[in-house]
Amino acid sequence: PFLALTAAGGLFVGLICYRLLGRPSSPRTILRRALEAKQFEPFLQPIVDACDGRWVGAEVLMRWRLPGEGLIRPDLFIPMAERTGLILPMTRDLMQQVAAVLAPHAADLPPHCHLGFNISAAHCRDPQLLDDCRSFLAAFPPGSIELWLELTERELIEPTEESDQLFQQLSAIGVKVAIDDFGIGHASLNYLQRFKVDALKIDQSFVQHIGADTLSGHLLDTLVELATRLDIDLVAEGVETKAQLDYLQALGIPYLQGYLFGRPMPAHEFMPALHQHRNAVGDTIDHQQ
Ligand code: C2E
Ligand code: MG
Ligand code: MG
Ligand code: MG
Repeated sequence: PFLALTAAGGLFVGLICYRLLGRPSSPRTILRRALEAKQFEPFLQPIVDACDGRWVGAEVLMRWRLPGEGLIRPDLFIPMAERTGLILPMTRDLMQQVAAVLAPHAADLPPHCHLGFNISAAHCRDPQLLDDCRSFLAAFPPGSIELWLELTERELIEPTEESDQLFQQLSAIGVKVAIDDFGIGHASLNYLQRFKVDALKIDQSFVQHIGADTLSGHLLDTLVELATRLDIDLVAEGVETKAQLDYLQALGIPYLQGYLFGRPMPAHEFMPALHQHRNAVGDTIDHQQ
């Protein structure tokens, strides 16, 4: 599936090049121009506390706003951005945009607001990641946010001495690491040690199978036990229904994310949506009294 996706992404970017420039152009050129034209923008999706549904933060998801084409999903261009190395400056730009939008509202964010960025294999060999994280954290008052890096595994990440050192340094400045899509990627258990993993994001496919078969129930059970033993946090992704919510809550999975709680939204809509959510939660409490 990885090869198919990469091929589809490459073809897509190739077609876009052709349409925009009227001639075949390298995907690298088109992505670089899109970056210069500020066409990549952050969308934020809430992450909630499973106990009470309160927003604890958000995951940042990249979108390409392509004139004349609308919003392009990351699956179509991230693999190409990774292959061309442009994912590094693109992520840096994304972090700067999120800091610019949210830092002025730091006092209004949930306490220790969890902000998660997806990073790629190339980042694990990029010493500049440390500086990027420092700059991001420095934009906010100390302690107001928690910066999370979600290691997405489309490519196999080979832990090296270099990456070990990088992740130690990241951990020293308070950056947290999550393994994304856990259960379907290449991530092996030894990653949990090598990358000083703080959380696992359980892949959506496990959530979608809830109720459909007992095996995924047992797998989820086992993940909760593993996480508890290793003192690692868990986030379940792709929660769409109340039945899934009830099941995951009963299992004791602490954090949830999915359309049931909120879809990814443009970064500037996040604060208004957070206020609306707080009012709604306040309303429920009022009604109960
Ligand atoms: P991911 O990091 O696992 O992000 C979760 C994906 O699930 C997002 O898709 C999100 O919109 C989608 N999702 C959230 N809740 C639900 C739900 O309830 N149901 C369903 N069906 N889907 C849900 P999106 O935004 O299309 O991103 C796809 C993938 O692209 C991400 O998966 C991540 O691997 C990658 N990606 C996105 N932004 C970046 C980025 O800035 N850098 C890198 N390296 N990868 C990124
Ligand atoms: Mg992610
Ligand atoms: Mg995921
Ligand atoms: Mg994914």
